[in-house]
Amino acid sequence: LIKGFEVLKDLPGETTDKHRIGLWVNTGLMADVLRSLERGAEGVGLYRSEVPFLLRERFPSEEEQRAIYREQLEAFAPRKVTMRTLDVGGDKSLSYFPIVEDNPFLGWRGIRVTLDHPEIFLVQVRAMLKANQGLNNLRIMLPMISSVTELEEALELLYRAHDELIEELGVELELPEIGVMIEVPAAVYQARDLAKRVSFLSVGSNDLTQYLLAVDRNNSRVASIFDPFHPAILQALQKVAEDAHAEGQQVSICGELAGNPLASPLLVAMGYDVLSMSASNLPKVKSVVRSLSYQQCQDLLQQAMQMDNSRDIRELLEQVLTDVG
Ligand code: PEP
Ligand code: MG
Repeated sequence: LIKGFEVLKDLPGETTDKHRIGLWVNTGLMADVLRSLERGAEGVGLYRSEVPFLLRERFPSEEEQRAIYREQLEAFAPRKVTMRTLDVGGDKSLSYFPIVEDNPFLGWRGIRVTLDHPEIFLVQVRAMLKANQGLNNLRIMLPMISSVTELEEALELLYRAHDELIEELGVELELPEIGVMIEVPAAVYQARDLAKRVSFLSVGSNDLTQYLLAVDRNNSRVASIFDPFHPAILQALQKVAEDAHAEGQQVSICGELAGNPLASPLLVAMGYDVLSMSASNLPKVKSVVRSLSYQQCQDLLQQAMQMDNSRDIRELLEQVLTDVG
C-alpha cells in the first residue's frame, strides 16, 4: 500500500480519458497536514475549525486563532484551504460553552450559534483574514445553512469584518471565496438561490444523509439505515451538482461519501469538481477514478439512477470495482 500511494502521489485525479476531478482532503489537526501532503492532496476542501476549539479550555483568542490558521494555510499554499467557520452543537459541544438540549442535531448548531453570537463569528473570521495575508489561498465555508436569510446575515458579518480590518491595518486584504455547505435538506431545494450568492457549494453528506433519511448519524441501532447510497440521497447529490453548475459555481462534496471509492464513479459522472476526504482514503479513490473512463462513469450513473433501492446500487458499483481490480 505504501508503494501504491507513493506512485500515485503526483499523478492527477483524472479518468482514463482525462476528465479531471480535484482530490482534496479534510483536515483539523496539524497532524492531518503531513499525511495529506504525502498523499498529494491538491487542496483542503474542509478544515474543521472547531477542532482547535475542542482541544482547549476556553475560546482561543483572535491571535491564537490567527496563528493556528496561518499554519494550515502556509502548509498548503498555494493550494486552497477551505476553512469552515465554527460548527459546534449537535454532537460537538465545548466544555466551556455547553449546549444542553433534547434534540441537539435539530437544535442550536453551526451557523445558528455563530449568528446568535456574532462576536465569536467576527473574531474567527478576522483571524482567518489576517492569517491569509500575503498567501491568499483561503476560502471560507459556512456550515448548517438552512435559508437564504442565514446566508445573507453571515455574508454581512463577513464583509463587515473585511472592511473593518482593511481600515484597521491600512492594507488591502483580499476577500476570499465564500461557500456554503449543503447539509440540510432545505438547502438542497434552494441550491440555486444559495449558489447565486457565493462562489462554491460543498455537500456535507454526513449530515445530509442524517437529515434526509431521519437517522441519527451516531446511533448504532439505526446504522444500517444510515445509507448514503439511498436513491433519495443520490438524487439530492445530482441536483446540487446541476444547480451549482447552472449558476456557474464550483461544487464539491466533503462528507465521508467523498472518500468511499464505491461512490467515485457516480460523483465523477454527476460533475462534482472536487471530492474532499480523509487523507487515508485518497489513494484508493484516486486509483478508482484513474481506472475508469468518463463514459463508463456516466453509464453507471444512468443505471444507478434507475434503481429504486440502495442494495441494487451497491451491487452494481461493487461489481465495477471488482472488475477494475
Ligand atoms: C458533513 O456533515 O458531511 C460534514 C462534512 O461535516 P461534519 O461531518 O463535520 O458534520
Ligand atoms: Mg456536517
